[in-house]
Amino acid sequence: MGKEWDGGLVSRRALRFWCLWGLAFGGWPRLVKRGAAWFAVVQMRARLVKEFRFEAAHTLPSLPEGHKCRQMHGHSFKVEIAVEGEVDAEIGWVYDHKRISDAMAPLLEQLDHGYLNDIEGLESPTIELMAAWFWTRLEPDLPGLCEIVIFETPTARCVFRGEF
Ligand SMILES: [Zn+2]
Repeated sequence: MGKEWDGGLVSRRALRFWCLWGLAFGGWPRLVKRGAAWFAVVQMRARLVKEFRFEAAHTLPSLPEGHKCRQMHGHSFKVEIAVEGEVDAEIGWVYDHKRISDAMAPLLEQLDHGYLNDIEGLESPTIELMAAWFWTRLEPDLPGLCEIVIFETPTARCVFRGEF
């Protein structure tokens, strides 16, 4: 899995390759010593995305009087969780999609068919703040978490990449 390059002993050529590769692909290959020789090993990288759905009600109490989102209403939310990482050379995956499902399970349990405003941290449950809510709870369990997309309707969504 991935590409391997026989750099021989670390030479100017090897170092130049190492630097150029990093600049071109946004990540530097690992240098691995085998016997007397050094190798630049570049692992294949990939992004996994898993999709979840839940139904919930909310109001947006900070909006001005008369705004229709101040009234209690519900959505069929869709959430996409994306992780990125190196593809494991033995198995051929970044990691098991089930790991994402397992991390999401207790959160969906809280949200599904609930009133979002009653949940700690979601007092003003816009999709932006919901994405941040998911992020802080998922990050410890999901290495490489890189993007959360929440659809409030089929045509309205928020994309969040962990920039707090
Ligand atoms: Zn709404």
